[in-house]
Amino acid sequence: MRKGTLYVFTGPSGAGKGTVLSRLLSEDEKLFFSISATTRAPRPGEKDGVQYYFLTKEDFEAKIAANAFLEHAKYVDNYYGTLEAPVNEKLEEGCDVILEIEVQGAMQVHEKRPDAVMVFIAPPSFEELANRLRGRGTEDEAKVQKRLETAKGELAQQDKFDYVVVNDTVERAVEELHGILAKRR
Ligand code: ADP
Ligand code: 5GP
Repeated sequence: MRKGTLYVFTGPSGAGKGTVLSRLLSEDEKLFFSISATTRAPRPGEKDGVQYYFLTKEDFEAKIAANAFLEHAKYVDNYYGTLEAPVNEKLEEGCDVILEIEVQGAMQVHEKRPDAVMVFIAPPSFEELANRLRGRGTEDEAKVQKRLETAKGELAQQDKFDYVVVNDTVERAVEELHGILAKRR
C-alpha cells in the first residue's frame, strides 16, 4: 500500500496558517492534522487534545528525554513539539499528514525526513502580519512584539521551502494549497 505524504506548513504567527489549514482540512478528508504538544496556556475555548496537548514543562521535558518528538522547539517563551508515533502510524495507514509548526521545528523535520513537502505560508506584508496578529486578540502587546520580532527571522528563511504561498485572501491561498496537494498525489 502507498504510504502517506508528510506536509510541513510553517510561517510566522498571524500569517493565517490555522485559518487556511482548517479550510483545507474541511475540504479534503484524506488529510490528517497532527495535534502538537505545548507548554503554553490554553486560550479561551481551546481544549486539551483538540488544538494541542497542553503539557507542563516537566511533562514536556520528560517526553524530550524519552525521544517522543519528531521535532520540538522553544518558540517565544514555550515549548512546542510534534509527537512522532501518531504521525508514523497515519503515514503507514496511507494518510497524508499535516504538521503546522514554526520554522526551527520545520527545519528539523526537513533534516530527518527529506521527503517531507515543505510549505511556507507568508503574509502579504509585514504590516498586514502585525494587523492580523493584533486583530486576533489572543496575545497582549508584549507577546505580540515578541512574536513579530521572531517573525523577522522566520520570514528571512522562506527561500528554504519547496513552496511559498502568500495568504492574501483565504480563498485564493486554499486554492493554491489544493493545487500543491493535487500535484504531489
Ligand atoms: P496563524 O495560525 O498563522 O498564527 P491565524 O490563522 O490565527 O494565523 O490568523 C491570524 C488572524 O488573521 C486571524 O484573526 C484570522 O482570522 C486572520 N486572517 C487569516 N487569514 C486572513 C486573510 N487572508 N485575510 C485577512 N485576515 C486573515
Ligand atoms: P500558537 O501559540 O500561536 O498556537 O503557536 C505559536 C507557534 O508555534 C506557531 O508558529 C505554530 O505554528 C507553532 N507550533 C505549533 N505546534 C508546533 C509544534 O509541534 N512544533 C513546533 N516547532 N512549532 C509548533
